[in-house]
Amino acid sequence: MNIASVIVDVPAKQTDKTFDYKIPGKFKDIIKPGIRVIVPFGPRKIQGFVTELKNESSFSKLREIVEPLDLNPVLNEELLELGEWLTEHTLSYKISSYQAMLPAALKAKYEKKIVLSKSADLENVHEKLKNLFMESREIKWEDAVSQGLVQQLHEEAAEGRIEVIYQVKDRVRKKLLKHVLPAVGPEKLTEIRDNLPAQASGQQAIIDFFLEHPEPAEQRQILTTLGISQASINSLVKKGILKTEELEVYRDPYAERDFAKKTALTLTVEQERAISPVLDSIENEQHEVFLLYGVTGSGKTEIYLQSIQEVLNNGKEAIVLVPEIALTPQMVTRFKERFGDYVAVMHSGLSAGEKYDEWRKIQRKEVKVVVGARSAIFAPFENLGIIIIDEEHETSYKQEENPRYHARDVAIQRAITYNCPVVLGSATPSLESFARAQKGRYTLLSLPKRMNNQALPTVEIVDMREELRTGNRSMFSVKLFEKLKDRIEKKEQTVLFLNKRGHSSFVMCRDCGYVMNCPHCDITLTYHRYNEQMKCHYCGHEDRVPTICPECNSEHIRYFGTGTQKVEEELNKLLPEARVIRMDVDTTGRKGSHEKLLTAFQEGQADILLGTQMIAKGLDFPNITLVGVLSADTMLHLPDFRSSEKTFQLLTQVSGRAGRHLLPGEVVIQTYSPEHYSVELAGTQDYDLFYQQEMMVRKVHLYPPFYFLSLVTVSHQELMKVVSVTEKIAKFISSRLSREAVVLGPVASPIPRINDRYRYQCLIKYKKEPDLNKALKAILDHYQQEMGKEGLQISVDLNPYILM
Ligand code: ADP
Ligand code: ZN
Ligand code: ZN
Repeated sequence: MNIASVIVDVPAKQTDKTFDYKIPGKFKDIIKPGIRVIVPFGPRKIQGFVTELKNESSFSKLREIVEPLDLNPVLNEELLELGEWLTEHTLSYKISSYQAMLPAALKAKYEKKIVLSKSADLENVHEKLKNLFMESREIKWEDAVSQGLVQQLHEEAAEGRIEVIYQVKDRVRKKLLKHVLPAVGPEKLTEIRDNLPAQASGQQAIIDFFLEHPEPAEQRQILTTLGISQASINSLVKKGILKTEELEVYRDPYAERDFAKKTALTLTVEQERAISPVLDSIENEQHEVFLLYGVTGSGKTEIYLQSIQEVLNNGKEAIVLVPEIALTPQMVTRFKERFGDYVAVMHSGLSAGEKYDEWRKIQRKEVKVVVGARSAIFAPFENLGIIIIDEEHETSYKQEENPRYHARDVAIQRAITYNCPVVLGSATPSLESFARAQKGRYTLLSLPKRMNNQALPTVEIVDMREELRTGNRSMFSVKLFEKLKDRIEKKEQTVLFLNKRGHSSFVMCRDCGYVMNCPHCDITLTYHRYNEQMKCHYCGHEDRVPTICPECNSEHIRYFGTGTQKVEEELNKLLPEARVIRMDVDTTGRKGSHEKLLTAFQEGQADILLGTQMIAKGLDFPNITLVGVLSADTMLHLPDFRSSEKTFQLLTQVSGRAGRHLLPGEVVIQTYSPEHYSVELAGTQDYDLFYQQEMMVRKVHLYPPFYFLSLVTVSHQELMKVVSVTEKIAKFISSRLSREAVVLGPVASPIPRINDRYRYQCLIKYKKEPDLNKALKAILDHYQQEMGKEGLQISVDLNPYILM
């Protein structure tokens, strides 16, 4: 087959289909589906994905593929098909879908280069260009252009002495390190060893080492392990006994640590009952979706581990998704302890290079298990045996940029292809999943008890309005403060949780109520203490902190709100003896700092761990006996129909941090809305009742899981333009849908302006509308030109998780 169908790297309506190219004879064996290639496209040369090979094309004049970018396919057949599916289900372009499946390192950048033609004689080249070519026959386009040599380039190209090429810049180079290895066989080595002078002890040590380990060893490591000098190596190299080579090493972020091998635990009766249908599904190679519903500490992870073991025994592979913030070293350790080097880890804390390395381990079939955040769902396995999604209710499984996919949907799609099970685990399942389990579309597996029958921690809800009435103006209720003091005396640990959302500090004038807003976006500026600046979290606008009110000139303008820093200050004042570790965006910015802080806390270097969302999950330390939630309701008032669900999940999740081991745990939840069912039921940890109540609310207001949602958001610099386009869109959609569907809008988005762009939206609620996707696609196509040139932006989110 000498023709390749290629999806080119131009995300647009006109190019959202394959183009045919001829495969030059020299690449005949290399070009396969799933390979990236460079192809001519109009006057340019661009990148593309080969999706298919064929013998005939309906086009007569085909151009040739310039070159392959890979020697092996980066997307296997299944992933190529999955890309089609993804495109259809997210209304994105095919090229975006394919790119979403690859590590960022492979989303290569082009570099324009000028090369001297093979036949060209440098002597004939223009004087000014000649200098540039002195060192190499290849120079950067920019270097020539910056010296104003465009005309000369033009002339030289016409003479055929130079060529312009597009090179894909390998942004992440493989990491190469100097290795040392023997250049002669073992007998010769022994002979040399025996003839070395006695004082050459360093050289002897090296030879002894290589007699035992004949494979290449990293030079730096030999030096330190054997305690020898560079000179010893050099002299052996000079004598031709050893040689050095630059060899590739993986950047393994966990390489420094040793993982003691751990074996499977004996399952409890409950665990046995829960795992058995999963094992059946694995054995029978029958696709099924399980919802593993079990409180924190009920032994879900052990079920994951043993299911995976079964999959590995059958020679297959496993993907485990964990929310980014729960992907703690503790979590990773549990998998590495069980499966050792078979595990690859993928999360955003890794550098692009590290991610690329982990990805290549999968591609080379060096690992069998991937533990990772959302995008790990695209791990290029070819023999999947199970997909596990832990904390399945987490909204971070939804990608909020194109392609806007939900990892759960992708997981099920892949599992159907491989006839394997999907296990969704959670203590507080999403309403969607639990409803599906109720209807029998998913198989419900329950683990109602904690391991060792530990009681769930006792939860007390404190009404902060009452505290204020009795004269307590502190951010700690009397009860929480008493318990805090008690723990410090008993040398037990406390976790203090501050819900960051809606809780950032802002500046307000006490006299006139003026609040400092971003001049470009309709939101409040956030006060940042570390650099004494006001910052907009949407557009990045920064301002000085005012000393007098710009409205009324009052000097009583100051910051409000309780950021983690403020809580820390207050703790220092009220409990100076307490040692506090603060974990938030400011203290965990640097790579590895997250882990360091947690380790310090685990080792008992602090009494209190104070933090935001990032401490809500995955912590499992024996000495934590108190959890305090400083204010439970900040999230309740967000314009989002899931706010009750999120509040309930978060409070339940945080409470689960206490008393996971021998010592019993206590939880104090401070709130301004104690009567709200999501707070109240988190207090009694009653998911089932919460589910019932929340389902009623969803039913009345036509929300998921009763209805599907799609959100269209339009933005532009001019308000009139936004309104008129959104109106047209709403009308068009309404005309295409049945009467059962509801189109809300156009209305201003909850955040009506971001970065000087006005935002309008329309929300579609529907049960079954086979033509909706087509209509939405038609809208995107219709406005494509305006979206390109006139600054109009339209985004379509099928199944949105962020409604702002
Ligand atoms: P979950 O994932 O539901 O939060 P885990 O799997 O982490 O629960 O289990 C909680 C604790 O119980 C862990 O410390 C784990 O090692 C322990 N555990 C789990 N299953 C067993 C078992 N069958 N026997 C003994 N200990 C277990
Ligand atoms: Zn004022
Ligand atoms: Zn702004």
